[in-house]
Amino acid sequence: MERLQKVLAHAGVASRRHCEELIVQGRVQVNGKVVRELGTRVDPDTDRIVVDGRPIRLEQHVYLLLYKPTGVITSVSDPQGRRVVTDLLKGVKERVYPVGRLDYDTSGLLLLTNDGELANMLTHPSYEIDKVYRAWVRGVPSPAKVDRLERGIKLEDGMTAPAQARLLKTSAAGDRALLELTIHEGRNRQVRRMCEAIGHPVLSLERVKLGFLTLEGLEPGQYRPLTTSEVERLK
Ligand code: URA
Repeated sequence: MERLQKVLAHAGVASRRHCEELIVQGRVQVNGKVVRELGTRVDPDTDRIVVDGRPIRLEQHVYLLLYKPTGVITSVSDPQGRRVVTDLLKGVKERVYPVGRLDYDTSGLLLLTNDGELANMLTHPSYEIDKVYRAWVRGVPSPAKVDRLERGIKLEDGMTAPAQARLLKTSAAGDRALLELTIHEGRNRQVRRMCEAIGHPVLSLERVKLGFLTLEGLEPGQYRPLTTSEVERLK
């Protein structure tokens, strides 16, 4: 359920402010009844919403969780004709775009949507959603270096915020290690630069979680729609 003025604004009726005026002026009906209460909650998918006698046209919001494979660009088009994430979608008519980005060589969880408001919210630094990455790195970082990742690393664009980092395992030969890093920020190539800074360059990188969302049930290249309750939880 969403606030009526938000649904009207989303549908392109007018700005949120102007939509509030339309409601107060009694020009909006929900399921045949005039609604003047600004806080009224409606279900944009099932309620019939009419402004000045005309039904509003709702843009259907689409939310997709993609398991991005490596070798694909997080974009909707590429001037050089390389494969982009939206090439992986089959039969999705809506113009969705990626929320944030994963590097060409990074695999993992990527959301795609046409809901600009949610996309802005999720990518805003104040939202602080947990982004969990698993990185195979060269060599085996000492506990002190893992601690540095947690406390913050000085990168050329400033200190990284405190993060969580742990060593999950080491390769049999002892020449590589799997790190799990949980960060909130989304700076360009951040995990790669953090690991590089402690002297353990990333060999492969995957985002395994975004908040409560995981890759469970998906193979690289596959995607699924979010459920309504997952969308609600994100908001
Ligand atoms: N950090 C990186 O270095 N790369 C990504 O794709 C995501 C986070």
